[in-house]
Amino acid sequence: MQKQKLVLVGNGMAGVRTLEELLKIASDKYDITVFGAEPHPNYNRILLSPVLAGEQTVQDIIINEMDWYEQNQIHLHINKKVTKIDRKNRIVFTEDGTSAEYDRLLLSTGSNPFILPIPGAELPGVVSFRDISDVEAMLDASSRYRNAVVIGGGLLGLEAANGLMLRGMDVTVVHIAPWLMDRQLDEPAARLLQQSLEAKGLKFLLEKQTGALVPGESGRVCAVSFKDGDSIPADLVVMAVGIRPNTELAESAGLYCNRGVVVNDTLQTFDPRIYAVGECVSHRGVAYGLVAPLFEQAKVAANHLAEYGIGCYTGSLTSTKLKVTGIDLFSAGDYMGAEGTDAIVLSDPAGGNYKKVVLKDNKVVGAVLYGDTTEGSWYFDLLREGTDVSDIRSSLLFGQHNLGDSGHGDPHARVAAMPDSAEICGCNGVCKGDIVKAIRDKKLFTLDEVRAHTKASSSCGSCTGLVESLLAVTVGGDYSTAPSKKPMCGCTEHSHDEVRETITRQGIKSIPALMHFMEWKTPDGCNKCRTALNYYLLCAWPSEYVDDNQSRYINERVHANIQKDGTYSVIPRIFGGDTSPKQLMAIAQIAERWEVPTVKFTGGQRLDLLGIRKEQLPGIWKDLSEAGFVSGHAYGKAMRTVKTCVGSQWCRFGTQDSTTMGIKLEELTWGSWTPHKFKLAVSGCPRNCAEATIKDFGVVAVDSGWELHIGGNGGIKVRATDFLCHVKTEEEVLEYCAAFMQVYREDAHYLERTAPWVERRGLTYVKERVVDDAEQRKVYAERFYESQKYSQDDPWKARGEGVDAHEYKPMAILS
Ligand SMILES: Cc1cc2nc3c(=O)[nH]c(=O)nc-3n(C[C@H](O)[C@H](O)[C@H](O)COP(=O)(O)OP(=O)(O)OC[C@H]3O[C@@H](n4cnc5c(N)ncnc54)[C@H](O)[C@@H]3O)c2cc1C
Ligand code: SF4
Ligand code: SF4
Repeated sequence: MQKQKLVLVGNGMAGVRTLEELLKIASDKYDITVFGAEPHPNYNRILLSPVLAGEQTVQDIIINEMDWYEQNQIHLHINKKVTKIDRKNRIVFTEDGTSAEYDRLLLSTGSNPFILPIPGAELPGVVSFRDISDVEAMLDASSRYRNAVVIGGGLLGLEAANGLMLRGMDVTVVHIAPWLMDRQLDEPAARLLQQSLEAKGLKFLLEKQTGALVPGESGRVCAVSFKDGDSIPADLVVMAVGIRPNTELAESAGLYCNRGVVVNDTLQTFDPRIYAVGECVSHRGVAYGLVAPLFEQAKVAANHLAEYGIGCYTGSLTSTKLKVTGIDLFSAGDYMGAEGTDAIVLSDPAGGNYKKVVLKDNKVVGAVLYGDTTEGSWYFDLLREGTDVSDIRSSLLFGQHNLGDSGHGDPHARVAAMPDSAEICGCNGVCKGDIVKAIRDKKLFTLDEVRAHTKASSSCGSCTGLVESLLAVTVGGDYSTAPSKKPMCGCTEHSHDEVRETITRQGIKSIPALMHFMEWKTPDGCNKCRTALNYYLLCAWPSEYVDDNQSRYINERVHANIQKDGTYSVIPRIFGGDTSPKQLMAIAQIAERWEVPTVKFTGGQRLDLLGIRKEQLPGIWKDLSEAGFVSGHAYGKAMRTVKTCVGSQWCRFGTQDSTTMGIKLEELTWGSWTPHKFKLAVSGCPRNCAEATIKDFGVVAVDSGWELHIGGNGGIKVRATDFLCHVKTEEEVLEYCAAFMQVYREDAHYLERTAPWVERRGLTYVKERVVDDAEQRKVYAERFYESQKYSQDDPWKARGEGVDAHEYKPMAILS
């Protein structure tokens, strides 16, 4: 088939990222031609600051070398500026007359630095800070001259000033506003920043308006004069006062521009054959000047160029960090706090720490951190998710690691505590889960390897510390996966939430139908999406959906836990941990009959029969079923166990009969499938011997009834529960438990335990559904009871009677 022609104008960060994304999903679709006005292959513009500061070289910051273009059969024209687009005949022309035809055109022309319209702006020695040639000019000046003036105390200006100072120049930053980085920081944070930069040797002139740049005898700039009459010497002037989207080419081709090339949510301009991404673009009235949103645009544009037609760019929230070594600051959203907002502030100027979180209607709308910025990504997640933080307001400033858990002070533990969906590298949109997966799957050990495989920490580098902590945590330990807002997996562009919504909205009842409807990229999916889809369909249509055994993990497929030597373990259910001599004898006899090598009490008060060969499983289950046992589901993403203490039946302190309560809860909930494993416990008094406050659903008896707790976890990352509410009767405990489980079942992402789910959704979200609205609680509980009608059939009994017998036959040995 004849390939279509794709031409990219602008060999910069957003345009080439679009090509990378496109090549990943449709490498054969286009004959690609790239025009770049600069004489370099694609490089990381963000890292010009470290190059100026002497921390990296130009060679270090090349993203794609020349041979990358060759390997991908991309015709690259460097040092060629496109000056004309003939839209009628679909041809682009460069200033030297080179031309290229296109079927699709991608504009990614970036932006131009804004040059103050003042006398002397065109003098030799006056530069902007945008590309490699600017850095070369600054480096040249720093080796020959002494005095540098940077006009503009924003992000770029400060990075330029820092670099020039490190190159040995005497640098003054001139800023028109009363404090530095006034578009990202409030005054207290900016003052701390200024102090740190002054301590490094920079000088500042604030609230100063530049009047003119003055030439010296040689014709080169020699001074900056201000409107108030002052002046200072300057052999080099860097203008870093803002950027303007580069729309010159688009405008000349008659494309609609309005402070950027106007594009829709599929990144198409008013001519649908022409796409535009990056800083040159105006999307829903916003032009972005940071790479994270541009990379999101790139992904969507690539998706449409590949003709998948399912991506949609709806805009981005951005956060800012400054790349000056030794200075940590973070800012996002409405950091000043408009009317109707509250700010929670921690200010420790002597310790060099400042934290401010701005709230509106109990949701985070902005944050500024100076000094300790480790919680930046958490606040940013809360902001993006719109989480209601009313329950954690008082501890919000102390960070995520202080929430309902046993406290983890060191940075590694903090990283371990982050959910997998937490964004680690904002520039490249890489989440913790992606990095951990890459470290595990590809056996990575160094920062460079992680950079190469995930791109995390390869752009501005502010997240390097976090990535290193993740490496330390992951290489040494095992941390189970959690979900994210991103696509479910590489097989689709859709997120977990989108998939769940589509299942119910469209009434889809099978995996193939869903994959077809949502345009899955792979024909059969992978084990990540298939297992999740199977669960989502099961949860949505308990009476109709036919469970797909092939879309389950091995343990669930064979209804037993595979152990490290390849044998299996079998755990019969012992309701509420309450047993009898008869039950014990039955288990003992079965264990003897099958010569079970190990019988072990588990932490969940059950007996584990270990060391069983696969082909023995149906037989042992048959015997257990006949003795009255059902499966303990110890292998499943399902309700596992209800731990109890002896309670008022036997204990001197017991206030209520916790064992009976536990048995009732287990009778109600056994057999239910959940997004991840789900554990319960009931304690007979606040002494809490059943450890109910580290369970997914914990019940603690008190004199006046029962306290209900949720979202605990006793695993790798210990998290104490959140208190849900107090109820009086046994019936209420059961109804609240059913409703809570159903909310979790219907809302959490597959493989998300209740602990990260409650943190992601917020306690208020759960309370609104389970506690505050009795009607809604009953509706949820009803749905849970309904689904239990279909799931409380014992899989062991069925397998003992011959269902899926092939799963348990040993493979024939042929030679
Ligand atoms: C010094 C510096 C530090 C930065 N630090 C950060 C940071 O820490 N974090 C962050 O998120 N962002 C940072 N940024 C911003 C980030 O670099 C930009 O947002 C990003 O590079 C924009 O990507 P783009 O592809 O839209 O434009 P560019 O990367 O500028 O690419 C546009 C390319 O198009 C070329 N071009 C323009 N017109 C034509 C034409 N007619 N024909 C052919 N080629 C053409 C240009 O020469 C240029 O190479 C920084 C920027 C600078 C300059
Ligand atoms: S939790 Fe209370 S009732 Fe239960 S065993 Fe401990 S002390 Fe006794
Ligand atoms: S804690 Fe759990 S996962 Fe770890 S070894 Fe024990 S049983 Fe296995």
